[in-house]
Amino acid sequence: MKATAPSALFRKLPSVDDVVRGPIGALAPSYGHDFVADAVRVVLGRLRQEISSGLLDESALDVALASLAEAVEKQLRHALSYSLRPVINATGVILHTNLGRAPLGEGAIEHIRETAGSYSNLEFDLGAGGRGKRDVHVDRLFQRLLQDEAGAAKANLISTIVVNNNAAAVLLALNTLAESGEVIVSRGELVEIGGSFRIPDVMTKSGATLREVGTTNRTRIADYEKAISERTRLLLRVHRSNFEITGFTERPSTADLAALAQERGIPLMEDLGSGALLDLRSVGISGEPGVLDSLRSGVDIVTYSGDKLLGGPQAGLISGGAKWIARMRSNSLFRALRVDKLTYAALEATLMAYVKGDHDAIPALRMMRLSKEDIGARAESLAKRISTPTLKIEVMDGESLLGGGAAPSSVLPTRVMAVTHKDLSADQLAARLRGGDPPIIVRVEDGRVLLDLRTVFPEQEADLAGAVIRISG
Ligand SMILES: *Cc1c(COP(=O)(O)O)cnc(C)c1O
Repeated sequence: MKATAPSALFRKLPSVDDVVRGPIGALAPSYGHDFVADAVRVVLGRLRQEISSGLLDESALDVALASLAEAVEKQLRHALSYSLRPVINATGVILHTNLGRAPLGEGAIEHIRETAGSYSNLEFDLGAGGRGKRDVHVDRLFQRLLQDEAGAAKANLISTIVVNNNAAAVLLALNTLAESGEVIVSRGELVEIGGSFRIPDVMTKSGATLREVGTTNRTRIADYEKAISERTRLLLRVHRSNFEITGFTERPSTADLAALAQERGIPLMEDLGSGALLDLRSVGISGEPGVLDSLRSGVDIVTYSGDKLLGGPQAGLISGGAKWIARMRSNSLFRALRVDKLTYAALEATLMAYVKGDHDAIPALRMMRLSKEDIGARAESLAKRISTPTLKIEVMDGESLLGGGAAPSSVLPTRVMAVTHKDLSADQLAARLRGGDPPIIVRVEDGRVLLDLRTVFPEQEADLAGAVIRISG
């Protein structure tokens, strides 16, 4: 058969105007003329591309042109569908930054719904009938939650403000407390948290000067002592969120640092990162200090994220002595970094669940508290439902991760479904699962796809099973 020259094939392509004036024009009233013309342009462009790269001969082009209307409609649907969409997280990483960290609880979503669609008293004092402050909605709850055994008198001295994320919290705190002065940090804590959050860079942006002390693996209290001068404004401790230093190591306890800070009249700040409000020892994880632990050790200001171990919306929280927090509130940066009503609504509802002791209302905490046995039972029954000739599924021991900047060793024992396919590699299988609707995100280890149901909501199991069966063929 003689191949038709590309130039002849190009001549067969109609113009955008021709197509829009034809039967496809019937789509214009529902989608709008410009949208339809754009979609036609995309579809014709794709055909042109395929002709150039020799993928279309004359008969294939004729077929494509005959189904032009369907192609345009498909393109329209694609252009009008959301880019941001739900996925099923089967990785077992509870606070997965790329997957949006903490899922919000029902209470938080309902509180967003009821306040976002109407007016609210966000900054309106209903008693006085005048301007109010947006922080009051959550500060009262934080005060309750951070109330020490020492009692209410002390709790009243602890205040909390909310900014856009923890990076903003650190920036605001450093700028407020240490601009033009020095901040002492151990060389073992000059961390990078991914997404370009680096302590030295944030320090520079804040206008404070970093004064490094100690070495990567060992820093002693005497190192801090020697570095303190009249320029020192702050001692900073940073949580080693995503790495560990083991072996020949040493660093002063938070309490020792707090004692030094107090003796010299310099505030001590801790960037906790994850900032749990729940005692993690209750889920078998030790060595992860929570917000209350930090304040109890004598830290003056603690910064942490809203969407990590707290399990709420993206936010940066700064809790600490009321006199320090008051200074941050009056910094004009605070205005630039403040959060909107949706965040306040989600945060207030999340904190309310803590106040009520209803930890299962917070999805991230509920997932952390699931037992290996319960996850194993769900995995066994799902594996039975999925059984197809092309797939081999084995339920075996594994580890879920807290993620989101808890110490890298913070793992929870789990049972995973290890899946292999007769003809597909694990990476190919993972790619097909990702391409489904809803997309399913998995871990690949040792040539197997691992599905950890700890992070899969029970109501997503049917979708998960259906998707795996569909791609197994
Ligand atoms: C996660 C983390 C941050 C950044 O918090 P975001 O809320 O993502 O801005 C900063 N410091 C530490 C120690 C962290 O773990």
